[in-house]
Amino acid sequence: MEPSKSVYTLADLKNWDAVIRDVSPRPRVAVFGDPVEHSLSPQLHNPALQACGIDAQYIRLQIRPEEFDEAVRLLPKLGFYGTNCTIPHKFLALEAMDRVDDLARKLGAVNTVVCDDDGSLVGFNSDGPGFLRAVREEFMVDVSDLRVMIIGAGGGAGRAVAVQCAVENCERLVLVNRTTDKAEAVARELEPYFQDTRVLGPVKRLAVCPWETEALHEELNDIDLIVNATSVGMKRTDPDLLPHHLLQPHHFAFDMIYSPLETRFLKSAEDRGARTTNGLPMLLWQGVFSFEWWFNRDAPVDAMRKGLMDAIASR
Ligand code: NAP
Repeated sequence: MEPSKSVYTLADLKNWDAVIRDVSPRPRVAVFGDPVEHSLSPQLHNPALQACGIDAQYIRLQIRPEEFDEAVRLLPKLGFYGTNCTIPHKFLALEAMDRVDDLARKLGAVNTVVCDDDGSLVGFNSDGPGFLRAVREEFMVDVSDLRVMIIGAGGGAGRAVAVQCAVENCERLVLVNRTTDKAEAVARELEPYFQDTRVLGPVKRLAVCPWETEALHEELNDIDLIVNATSVGMKRTDPDLLPHHLLQPHHFAFDMIYSPLETRFLKSAEDRGARTTNGLPMLLWQGVFSFEWWFNRDAPVDAMRKGLMDAIASR
């Protein structure tokens, strides 16, 4: 099974029957992105479709923001079950849907579109649920029992994870972002979730921390889970996310980055005795949730995990 192209476009969708005439199985699920050629989603979903005997394949669609509405409206007409949306479409997708699931509305973004039987488009978000599941699987603990610091809380994924932590009523949430105004805006939005009577001594349950060593040092004494939701660490030349000495053995370090598999942040955390995970488990579980929304059945998690590991190994 191979699509004739590794990336399709809106022009292809407009001429779909001719474009996919020799393609088998027929593409019926996709990821919209710009850029999209590096997405690992086909390697995650195609083994799952095969394992379940579903006559469909998953493809990449290179769609520019101004093309999004037209492209997504074509999907039901062309027999698609739905699509994932990655950068920069997650916010546009929220507006383009006929209906949006409650959690996706709270998270402020849609990364999974389901084409309903009546041709309408329904939006979901698997970033938050995928994060929760990854934390539980990797650290054997629920976010509701944790004091969490999110670095990059003003970005798309960081904001979604921050809202999800608030929805879960986590013990404590500290937001950090290079542009502090964005973290403050997220904190204002999340205030209503933190007004109950949980007592944590002198520390605030919801706080914004400037990205400065002294301030971070103080906050990190009262934090269990540190999440990197920035792109810092993807490049070898990137600076340290946090100074080495701030990381402590009681910390759980969660880097949403999965390429490289071990960032300097994770290496540092491990050296300091902390437990760590990279972004692969979150990527896997997000895919699992999307699959289940499209096909209304359990996803073959082992086939998806193997597909992902094979894709990483062959890079
Ligand atoms: P985004 O919306 O563009 O947000 C980027 C975030 O990174 C912002 O908070 C931004 O801060 C910060 N940032 C970027 N460059 C920085 C730098 N040089 N120094 C400090 N902060 C910097 O991107 P996104 O979609 O949220 O993705 C963020 C990361 O999460 C990416 O690495 C992505 O691959 C990863 N991710 C992983 C998964 C998964 O399943 N594992 C899912 C989604 C995302 P400013 O606000 O100041 O610009």
